[in-house]
Formats: sequence, C-alpha cells, structure tokens
Amino acid sequence: MADSQIGGGQQVLLLPEGSSRLLGRDAQRTNIAVANAVAHAIKSTLGPKGMDKMLVSEMGDIVITNDGATILEEMNVEHPVAKIMVDIAKTQDKEVGDGTTSVVIMAGELLKGAGDLIEQGIHPTTIIRGYKMAAEKAQGIIAERAREVDVNDDATLQKIAMVSMGSKNVGDDNTKAHLCKLVIRAVKQVMEKQSGKLVIDHDFIKLEKKPGKSIADTEFINGVLIDKEVAHPGMPKTVNNAKIALIDVALEIEKTEVDAKIEITSPDQMQAFLQQEERMLKDMVEKIKKSKATVLVTQKGIDDVAQHFLAKAGIMAIRRVKKSDMEKLGRATGGKIVTSLDDLDDKDLGYAGIVEERKIGGEQMIFVEKCKDPKSVTIFTRGGTQQVVDEAERSITDVIGAVSSAIETGKYVFGGGAIEIDIANGLRAYSSDVGGREQLAIQKFADAVEVVPKTLAESAGMDSIDTLVQMRSKHKTKEGSQAGVDIFKNTIGDMLKNGVFEPLKVKQQAIASASEAAEIILRIDDMISSRGRPGAGGGGGGGMPGMGGHGHEME
Ligand code: ADP
Ligand code: MG
Repeated sequence: MADSQIGGGQQVLLLPEGSSRLLGRDAQRTNIAVANAVAHAIKSTLGPKGMDKMLVSEMGDIVITNDGATILEEMNVEHPVAKIMVDIAKTQDKEVGDGTTSVVIMAGELLKGAGDLIEQGIHPTTIIRGYKMAAEKAQGIIAERAREVDVNDDATLQKIAMVSMGSKNVGDDNTKAHLCKLVIRAVKQVMEKQSGKLVIDHDFIKLEKKPGKSIADTEFINGVLIDKEVAHPGMPKTVNNAKIALIDVALEIEKTEVDAKIEITSPDQMQAFLQQEERMLKDMVEKIKKSKATVLVTQKGIDDVAQHFLAKAGIMAIRRVKKSDMEKLGRATGGKIVTSLDDLDDKDLGYAGIVEERKIGGEQMIFVEKCKDPKSVTIFTRGGTQQVVDEAERSITDVIGAVSSAIETGKYVFGGGAIEIDIANGLRAYSSDVGGREQLAIQKFADAVEVVPKTLAESAGMDSIDTLVQMRSKHKTKEGSQAGVDIFKNTIGDMLKNGVFEPLKVKQQAIASASEAAEIILRIDDMISSRGRPGAGGGGGGGMPGMGGHGHEME
C-alpha cells in the first residue's frame, strides 16, 4: 500500500505529494469532530418546534425543508465521514421513511461520547464492544415498551401519521389531518398479505405534484395519474367505464436496421408503397379495435397515421408512457401488459371507471381513476409554489413510511422523547450489571440517546437539564413511562393523552443505524487521502474508510 519497510525498519513514505495522512488519535479526533458538525447542522430541525432550512444550490435552485435526509443530501458534503453520516440518514429514509434527523443526531452524540472515553484512555475497540451491547439491550427495551396497533385502528394510525407530519411546515392541523387521511387510505389500498404478513410496497403509491391551488387540495386518486396527454386532438378526452389496452408495442412501421434502398420509378409505385404502409398500420389498429379496448396506452410511439385511425375508431391513445407507469397501470386497472398485438385479448384489458385528460396548471395530465380495488394508487400533491409542493411531498413520504412501518410491525411507542428516556434508564441500570470498562461505554450510549428529549426540550424553550432529570425519575415510576416533552405547553406531559405515537420500527432502525455508523467511524484510525490528484490510483481513493486496521501495529 502506501508505505513499506526497508532495511533497519526505517519507514519510507510512498505517498504521492499532495496527499495527506492522519493516524490514530488524530484521525479519530478529526472524524468525531466532522460527525458532530454534521449532526449539529440538522439538530435545530428536530420536532414540531424545529426550524426549517433554506438551501440554495449552485444553480440557484431553492429548497426549503425540515427533512434531515434532504438537508444532508443538498449540503453536498465532501468529507468521507460526513458522507457516512449522510448515508445513515438515507438508509433510515429508505428502510422506514422517518426518523432521519434523530438517527443522525444520535450518531453524532454517540461519537462525542466515544471521544470523551478515548481521551480518558479507553480503547476504541472497548467502546465499540460496549456500544454493541448497549444497542442490543436498547432494542430489547424498545420492544418491551411497545404497544399494539391493529391495522383497522384508524384513530391510532392517524395519531402516528400526525406525529410524523407534525414537524413539517405544511399548513394548519386540518390540512395535516387531511393529508394523513389520504396517506392511510393509500397505504391500506396497496397493502398486501404475503405469507400471513402485511407488506406495503411504497413504489405503488405514486406521488405526483403540481404547483397550484393549495396543500388542502391535495388529492387521493384511486388509480394512476400520468404526466402525459392524449396523442391526437381527434381522440376523446374522457372515456367512462374504460377498457384499457396496455401494450409495449410501437404502432409504427419499423425502420430497417440495414440501409435499404427502395427504388421507386413511377407515381403508381409511390402510391402503392404508401398504401402498403397505411394498410399495415390500419391492421394494427384493427387488432386493437377487435379487442374492444376504448383506451390504448403504449410504452412506445404511435405513428401519425395510426393516431388518425385510432381517433376515427373513437379510441383514446397515450404514447411513450414510462415503464414504471405501465406497471402501476397494470396493478391499478388489472390489465396485462402485452408485447405483441396478436396476443391482445379481451382478458388482457384493464378497467377504470374513468380515464380523462385534464388541464392542471397549464399542462395536460391523464387521470386513470375509479379503478376496482387498485393495487396501485396516486397521491397528487398541490400547493402554492414549487417549494411548498416539494416540502409537502417530502412530508407525505415520511408519513407513508411511518404508517406502513406501524402497520407492518403492528406496534408503536411513545414519542416526545419518552421512549428514549426508557432506553437511557434501562441502559444505565444494565451498565452496572456489565461492569468493566464497557459499562462506561454503555453509560455514554444512554446519554447519547437522550439527545432526542434534550433537543425537543430545548426547541420548546425548556431547561433541558431539569427536564431530563425530571423525566428520568418519572419514568422510574409505574405510570411514568408516558411522560414526554409537551412541545406545545412547554412542560412535561402525558404522551398517551397527547397522542404522540411513533412506530416501533422507526425507533429500532434509528438505534441500529446510529450505533452502526458510530462503530464504522470509530474503527478508522488511519485516513489516507489523495484527493485533488487526478489519477492518483484507487488505493487511497478519497481516504475512504474501511482501510482502518492497517494502522494498529503503529500504536
Ligand atoms: P425525524 O427526522 O427524526 O423524524 P422530526 O423533525 O420528525 O425528526 O422530529 C421527530 C421527533 O419529534 C420525535 O422524537 C417525536 O417524538 C417528536 N415529536 C413529534 N411530534 C411531537 C409532539 N406533538 N409532542 C412531542 N414530541 C413530538
Ligand atoms: Mg419525522
């Protein structure tokens, strides 16, 4: 690799000029500082009283958001450790769709705690071992505290949804309640039972957005909304009780692959040639007519002549539809995507109560609605400006994640920092059973998890130390486990009464990802960076982690 030993144990650096290297404590100190800086950058957005951030890209695009994952992504961080922090937010987003800010600030705190212990002379591997034990114990505590929610318990699901949306700046409570209801409806509509378990594939909740009207006008569409228009002005713009042919076939005459020359010597021949082409296209349209389809959707193109014949037959046609939309249409309408017109049969057609082209904000869109028990649906987000619809859509994504997580595992815990206090109390008790140096790491883990209630209290203008102390002792009593930060009354409140519920899965994933990220970063004790030197070879590329280990012999 970068350096090697020559006679007499003398070390020769083979690193190219301009590259840098950090070893041991220096590497750890820097990495911990970077991770903390990242956590600090989004800390103020946590919870309903959290602030928004405005990010302006190099191109001048503006994003206003409260969403941890989005902020980190837009920040375009450079440092490899910062990238790891961004990745955990992304993982959290992908796995459970919510809890991205919490996971990052917890990871930051875990690393800060580890930094303190390293300064006291405790080896990172001991800290890692302690953190692993703590994370496992924490999972057990969360599971123990969880309560059950039935898929039909809409009142509880609505509370979970409202807490997830709570921190987002997307209108008043009525508007939020409206959006949450839409999400619950959408999630339940696409939910499927797979080997006795409820599973929700988020891909089948299509999110479309257009600036215009207000967030309250956001709609649930029992089917699919496609950003396309009817192919030909002579075609109907509305088809009721539509029978829909979904094809992956071009209604065009294929251009030959090889260069072919057609020699035409007389006007008659020209005429015959064109007629031949027209006949072929007409034949294609005949096949569609024969299937009794009233709407045609194709992934490919439609020739002008074919459009004309389709229009004459009163068929609405939509062309060049994305593959992913074709799949959604299949699941929504019950139609089958056909790859050869000869195979097109009545049985393959999908059904929608209405297919209609509507003008939205100056552009045409196709609504495929009123499907029968569709397995793919759409939420069509509206709002005053592009920034507003963007943030509304991001919040909807979070809520989809929270509601599906709650339904999939059927469990929830108390938010407002309540579950975090339970975890911290449990870990502190556990640490004395463990003893040894690991117990110090477990105690740091407990402190780190408390960053959530601490930050929530700070955002409400409460004294964070007092709040933590009081919450800890309340949670040690029997009825106390509902005590959390009442953000709106600036006091400690009853989270059951306030309906501050969060999915178990979101909390479990947050603990797992935060501790994993902390471990990865703590393992690094050698950072070799050859950035800024194009073609500097893969070995030290960007000083990526994973090359730790190497430096151990130097301690
Ligand atoms: P994340 O990206 O981590 O989900 P949020 O900004 O959504 O961050 O904030 C989530 C935190 O806010 C959770 O700890 C949750 O319990 C808390 N929270 C949300 N609504 C309330 C509320 N009404 N009262 C108290 N805490 C709340
Ligand atoms: Mg959230």
